[in-house]
Amino acid sequence: MTEFTKQELVDILRDDSQNDWLFSLADKVRQENTGDEIHLRGLIEFSNYCKNTCKYCGLRAENSKIDRYRMSADDIIKCAKSAVDIGYKTIVLQSGEDVFFTSDKLCEIVSGIKDFGVAVTLSVGERSFEEYQAFKRAGADRYLIRIETTDKDLYKQMHPNMSFENRLRCLRDLKTLGYEVGTGCLVGLPNQTVESLADDILFFKEINADMIGIGPFIPHPQTPLGKAKIGSLTLALKVMALTRILLPDINIPATTAMETLNPNGRIIALQSGANVVMPNVNNVQNGKKYEIYPNKSGICEDLQLAKASLEDKIKTIGRTVSATQGFRYDNGK
Ligand code: SAM
Repeated sequence: MTEFTKQELVDILRDDSQNDWLFSLADKVRQENTGDEIHLRGLIEFSNYCKNTCKYCGLRAENSKIDRYRMSADDIIKCAKSAVDIGYKTIVLQSGEDVFFTSDKLCEIVSGIKDFGVAVTLSVGERSFEEYQAFKRAGADRYLIRIETTDKDLYKQMHPNMSFENRLRCLRDLKTLGYEVGTGCLVGLPNQTVESLADDILFFKEINADMIGIGPFIPHPQTPLGKAKIGSLTLALKVMALTRILLPDINIPATTAMETLNPNGRIIALQSGANVVMPNVNNVQNGKKYEIYPNKSGICEDLQLAKASLEDKIKTIGRTVSATQGFRYDNGK
């Protein structure tokens, strides 16, 4: 297995002359370890209410211009059913940090969706050990919570009302409870250094994350970082490719933020180490309102048509869509 020192990671991230080598090595490692199947996860963004004030995010509590929505438990379960009916094997439930969704409410939703025989991933932010335990008992299989950055000073600048230690505690609790755990970082935040990106990659390896989502930072005009410089897609792809090389068998999505910066971003990512796509299965109105950054790609009227067109694209690069739930450690599902 390939190992890199921090200095080697920094050198690779700084030097763009070897990018083709890096992307094809990551593609080869992906092929040898996870094969040619791509896992599609149906993403339901069920609430854009958020109590946090992350400086980069359009959902931040202080954004008074956003049109807030919350789906009912019934609507979330119905939406999941429509996705399952057209072949999705995993449903991802994501929201801002919305206290309206108590542990009991979320458990009811998770177990309602588990009845359809699919995997359920939650991404609802920081909760207590007891809440994570309750979600697990209700049937949740995976949890996504990005560390965003491992640079503690930058973390503090970006998340005024949050604590880096608590974010770490969440990741630890989720591992202890037996979830497949996903984390990741933003690439291109103001004041972020290449050294801290190298630390992020080493952190993913250190905690042995099961899933890693990397997204270029995209400024949102209704946030304090509205006028900041946009993140680089190439640098985000490089962080992703290095992560694949260091964690050969994990699940890595081609993220929506990558597709937002380049109409072919998802395919490029799938050829540079990624093996997962998370299409939005929300209705169009809610999809548009879940505006973490502007012009978010992948909001479609017809779910079936969108899935078929994605499958066609996947075929053109010689890959297939998996019929399994796509766990990191194959448990036969
Ligand atoms: N509230 C949950 C949490 O904190 O983990 C999940 C929802 S949060 C909106 C999902 C992800 O959106 C964050 O982890 C962050 O990396 C990403 N995000 C937010 N604003 C962004 C921006 N302006 N550009 C790119 N990604 C962004």
